[in-house]
Amino acid sequence: MGFGVYLSYHDVCSNNFEQVREHLKNLQTDIFPENPFALMVVIDPAPQVLSRPNFSYFNQNSLKMPQKEESDQAFASFLKDQKLLKSKILMHGLNHYSDSYLRRSRVGVKANQWTSNEAEFAGLDVNDAEILILKAQQKWKELNLPDCDGFVPPTWHETPGLYLKSFELGFDFYEARQMWYYKSDGKVQRKRVLPMSFWGQSLQEFQRSLFWNKLLFRLAKTFRISIRLALHPSDFQEDRQADLLKFLQYIRSNAQGLSYPSF
Ligand SMILES: [Zn+2]
Repeated sequence: MGFGVYLSYHDVCSNNFEQVREHLKNLQTDIFPENPFALMVVIDPAPQVLSRPNFSYFNQNSLKMPQKEESDQAFASFLKDQKLLKSKILMHGLNHYSDSYLRRSRVGVKANQWTSNEAEFAGLDVNDAEILILKAQQKWKELNLPDCDGFVPPTWHETPGLYLKSFELGFDFYEARQMWYYKSDGKVQRKRVLPMSFWGQSLQEFQRSLFWNKLLFRLAKTFRISIRLALHPSDFQEDRQADLLKFLQYIRSNAQGLSYPSF
């Protein structure tokens, strides 16, 4: 595997998938028709996170939340359609929210302060992490979702040994903040990837994030270190969409190998 930008869309769930489908339609037909995405699925998002920008965004022109509760069946068939387009479907936690009843290391507590309690697996005892993953796998089965291609802890904050635990629980691929772990020839292999995502509560901050990401892209290309790009619903807000699409077109014109690999 040489240099590439790997495409992913984060925090996909049964509450926002219609919005996500609209965003993907554009990308999958116009900008990256030959480069499948990885969809990071939150199986049972906590009510506290559903109205946050990383899950959805308020469309100020329509004066209503674009998301609504959809049947689990419709969500499952959306993911199956994505599989037909060769997208990878990865598990991205159970609730994407850290419950206070679980004990965490000091690092895990800090990670949750930084992320408004979205670092679900940060600093957990690995046995507690296992219980959360088993619950998520159970729910995945109940909802009849397509085969799962890997595990990505929410916010990429983890706990020591989490990648080994996820392999034990049947995953073949694990994404940490700056590293991929995967099985090859019966051994766990690693590949370094640079994280890229967008941020900003205001349009100006968002544009600044595009600027820094363009610099990061040029550096990564020079040193041939692959990038994994994480998109979220908030990146597609009306006033940001044109700049975002221009940036993605720039990526497409300057990078190769854009889909998550099969291990
Ligand atoms: Zn997430």
